[in-house]
Amino acid sequence: MTNVKVKEEFRQMIVDGGNTMVSQGMTVGTWGNLSIRDTETGLIYIKPSGMPYHEITQNDVVVMNSSFEVIWGHRKPSIEFNLHISIMNARKDVHTVIHTHPIYSSAFAVTGLEIPGISEDFVQIVGDKVINCAYSLPGTPELARNVVEGLGDRNAVLIPNHGTVCVGADMESALKISHVVEKSAHIYILAKIIGTPQVISDEDMDAMQFFARNYYGQGK
Ligand SMILES: [Zn+2]
Repeated sequence: MTNVKVKEEFRQMIVDGGNTMVSQGMTVGTWGNLSIRDTETGLIYIKPSGMPYHEITQNDVVVMNSSFEVIWGHRKPSIEFNLHISIMNARKDVHTVIHTHPIYSSAFAVTGLEIPGISEDFVQIVGDKVINCAYSLPGTPELARNVVEGLGDRNAVLIPNHGTVCVGADMESALKISHVVEKSAHIYILAKIIGTPQVISDEDMDAMQFFARNYYGQGK
């Protein structure tokens, strides 16, 4: 563990990001997990397994490399470390992965329905829609493969009967994406109750994504 450049600021981002997930109602207890990659060293900081977010301190965060090895820390990493690292290995534009168990998105995850592109913020920063990946048990390498495949080049994917995975270039973006996915799921369900939700056309989605990529720097 010598000569490893582990940074306090990244460990703190895992602590703070986890507390934000809980305060936004995206998960409860010890469920869900999050990770962030330091682009300078390539090291990945991840939540420790089975600890409530409010108890996690900088010293509990686990640091891993892209070969799925723990290189720093005295805790066991989240059981979903395969999923986090597999996404970062597949997506060079992704440096933060957030896995949550939010209520409205989970309604789509238990029915196998996709969340369509019905609002501007969703289309700009998440993608044209959010689909369900193939089902597999939590914590398995198979789930990691299914999530990477289901995610594709979008910034979120649903895990059947489980929850969501949202990704971003940094912690702030990933938290925002996570929030927008859940908000869109909520809006869609409410809209279905009072009427027929109108999905944004492919042409307008392209225009919004072009705008976001070129003017906001939020491209995928
Ligand atoms: Zn989970």
